[in-house]
This record gives sequence, structure tokens and C-alpha cells, in this order.
Amino acid sequence: MANYQHILIAADFSEHNHAVMQRAKELAASHQAKLSICHIVEDFPIADFAYEPMISIDIDMRDALVDSGKKQLSELAKTLAISEQNQLLELGSPSYDIVRLADENKVDLIIVGSHGRHGIKMLLGSTANSVLHHAKCDVLAVKLPEE
Ligand code: AMP
Repeated sequence: MANYQHILIAADFSEHNHAVMQRAKELAASHQAKLSICHIVEDFPIADFAYEPMISIDIDMRDALVDSGKKQLSELAKTLAISEQNQLLELGSPSYDIVRLADENKVDLIIVGSHGRHGIKMLLGSTANSVLHHAKCDVLAVKLPEE
């Protein structure tokens, strides 16, 4: 069995997140691996110049989403004693940026939930599927209960 050295949890803050966290905790302990956690705040396009007054609102909204994401990530990280430097928060696309963060941080196992806030209908059809197909390292999709 592979001896993992750096495990990355992809946290979407959905209600089943604790199952993903629990599995990560067990694996990190049995492999004596470093544990990191990431959350991607989904980016959305800002209004173009024709709607200039909207731009500052959108930027404020992004800042608010990033601040709130950091807070939630830090609370989750605390439960697994993950230090601040291993809490990774990015603005972007979950499918793309989870894989990029894993590459950049020399992660050898990514742990995702089989589905998340997008629901069971998209089982392995969205983030988990994309990460599985694009990651250069192993990916564990923790099977989550159906709603
Ligand atoms: P979903 O694409 O919503 O079915 O989510 C599947 C799994 O991908 C979730 O259980 C998380 O582990 C991960 N995931 C989804 N969205 C994000 C996100 N914004 N940031 C980090 N991980 C995510």
C-alpha cells in the first residue's frame, strides 16, 4: 500500500463534510502524513464597463465570500489541528484549483466527497469526477449518504 506523505482535504462546507474530514484524519494518522485542507470560493464574472456601478458591489461580494470562506475553513481546520499555513483558500474553479493546489503543494492523496452541495444527482459527475480525472496523484472519493 502506498505510504502517503501529504493528504489534501477538499472541503465544500456541506453537511456531510465531517465524513470526509474523519476519513482524512484516520488516513493521516495511519500514514503519519501531513494534512492540508483547501476550499475554493467559486468565482463569478464581474459586470463589464457598461455596468460600472455594479463592479464595486461585485468586488465587495467577492471579498465577503473570501472572508467568510477563510473563517469557515479555519474553524474546520481547527478540529483537525491543521495549522494556518496548511489552510489553502483560493478564488476560482473547484475542479481546476483543487488539482492545481495539490500539484503545487506536492500532495500525494486528495480526499473529496462523492458529492457535495450540488447534490446526489451529480454523483461523480462534477468536482469529484473532474478531480479524479485530472489529478496527477491518487484521489479518494468518500462515499457520502444519499439525501
Ligand atoms: P460536488 O461537486 O458539489 O458534488 O462536490 C463533490 C466534492 O468535491 C465535495 O464533497 C468536496 O469534497 C469537493 N468540493 C466541491 N466543491 C468544492 C469547493 N468549492 N472547494 C473545495 N472542495 C470542493
